[in-house]
Amino acid sequence: MTPKEIFIVVMIVLAVVCAIVGIGVLALAITKYFYRRWIVENSVALKKLRAINAKYVFKRVEQRKLTQEYDAKHNYDNVSPKDYLIYQLVYLQHQLKNDFASAKENIETYRKYREEITAECSVVDYENVKWILFKKYAQKIERNLLNKVALKPETRVTIIVELYHVNSNHILKSRKGETFYEDEIISLIKRVGNKRGNFYQDREIWDAICRVERARVSNRMRFSIYKRDGYHCRKCGKSGWSHYLEIDHIIPISKGGKSTYDNLQTLCRECNLEKGSKIE
Ligand SMILES: [Zn+2]
Repeated sequence: MTPKEIFIVVMIVLAVVCAIVGIGVLALAITKYFYRRWIVENSVALKKLRAINAKYVFKRVEQRKLTQEYDAKHNYDNVSPKDYLIYQLVYLQHQLKNDFASAKENIETYRKYREEITAECSVVDYENVKWILFKKYAQKIERNLLNKVALKPETRVTIIVELYHVNSNHILKSRKGETFYEDEIISLIKRVGNKRGNFYQDREIWDAICRVERARVSNRMRFSIYKRDGYHCRKCGKSGWSHYLEIDHIIPISKGGKSTYDNLQTLCRECNLEKGSKIE
């Protein structure tokens, strides 16, 4: 045989092998497809599961996500996701009550649902079929199908907190996040609720709230306050050209003051130091 003939023979053998393998793979895929379809049509368990699904209604438990952008790096650095969650819980706790009630209800309903499924849906039970090929394989396919069809209600409250450091054009520079689960949220709500008058008894909670409140003074806000006050100290009138200006909380955060425009003013460093309850 000439080298040319050998080459042709090798190519033919390769082509035949490829064709056989290809047909094999295709045949397997087709078999699996029809096998699956047959199970979908004949599985008693699937039919029962669909009927059971129709009977149960689960409550919606919203998965909450809290996000906050900081345009100043020091604000972003000073606040942790947990701090931010604590701050928001002061307002959110009442809305969350519904979520907790729904989640609790879902746990109870889900328990009954699973009990009914376990009692009613046994795999590999096909109408009018006594014998089946590849029983193990059929069971595996059927279990996967049952898993897909089974309802999966939300049974716990989760809150995702994400904080972003952005530049003045809202371009993301860095991010940090944490997911909080029901037990921790409940214990934090209890601690947030532990108040005497306007003050939180729990030191850690109070510090977290103050950190977030302080960090609410964004760069954007800072410059609009300077502008509003004409770049002058509101106490002694010194100008920003000659003196270092700072933003001051008129009612200090430690006394329950907020980072709002009407509670912020421009002071020179000397006046701010003199004021005592130094915020910035
Ligand atoms: Zn001053």
